[in-house]
Amino acid sequence: MDSVSSSSSTPKVFSSAQDLSEATAAIRNSGKNIALVPTMGALHEGHLTLVRNAKKIPNAAVVVSIFVNPLQFGPGEDLDTYPRTLDADIEKLSAEGVDMVFTPTPEVMYPNGFRTTIDPGPLAKELEGATRPGHFAGALTVCTKLFNLSHCTDAFFGEKDYQQLVLMQEMVEDLNLPLTLHPVPIVREENGLALSSRNRYLSADETRLAQKLSKSLFAGREAAQNGMSAEDVKGAARKYLAQFPDIDVEYVELRDARLGKLEDNNDTGVVECRLLLAARVGTTRLIDNMGVMLQR
Ligand code: AMP
Repeated sequence: MDSVSSSSSTPKVFSSAQDLSEATAAIRNSGKNIALVPTMGALHEGHLTLVRNAKKIPNAAVVVSIFVNPLQFGPGEDLDTYPRTLDADIEKLSAEGVDMVFTPTPEVMYPNGFRTTIDPGPLAKELEGATRPGHFAGALTVCTKLFNLSHCTDAFFGEKDYQQLVLMQEMVEDLNLPLTLHPVPIVREENGLALSSRNRYLSADETRLAQKLSKSLFAGREAAQNGMSAEDVKGAARKYLAQFPDIDVEYVELRDARLGKLEDNNDTGVVECRLLLAARVGTTRLIDNMGVMLQR
């Protein structure tokens, strides 16, 4: 029996970094594990699926952090308007039997301002990083702080933010961080739209358009299943999107599973790849991706 889980009681909510750190250190000292789910709140079924996976770690307390991290937003991005729904979030986490919720302010997380940060490797300049400079440095920095403050043995990340997940894996490996990362597949609506806190910015018309994004990825996947080349797989997704001129496509890219460029990858046979896209629907920037088995 897992003595630290509390499936029917409300989670303990911490806003102080020191209080969280002391509580989680005590749990680790008692021989138990800690499973962390970092989020920016406005929780939906995607986040809750991460939580449900975290709950499966044996003998573990589940910690969910809710923090809209200013360090990973660029100028002109949606830091100020990002949805903040703390009471509803805590209610959802109570229903999932989460043990602790960490809800720091920016002052708690960055008492010395933005000073020491993590410098990610070259992948952080590509794909999302091409238009969001500093985004991944911000995300890796805040997650390193959350790993340290929560004393987590395990941390859960969604494939929704696939590049973030890969960069997180690179960091854990390169900096020998003592924890295990667990990727969680994308949770979608029945119509294919990947759940995202930013979907609530969309009007009804925009929501219908946004559904086309995943449809384009399915078109690419189908092209791969039919034995088409990398160029044709990307082409199939782009061609699908071209039917909808109101979707402002930023990129559609096909990479290997660790987001290496396919021209640098000499694998042959059936190669696991990722088809990734970013697009603007109205003023909302959305991302999505899908696994694709490419025959080479
Ligand atoms: P966010 O609150 O957007 O920073 O997301 C927190 C975590 O939830 C990240 O690891 C995301 O990849 C993950 N996540 C967000 N949306 C989904 C989704 N639709 N399916 C799976 N994971 C998700």
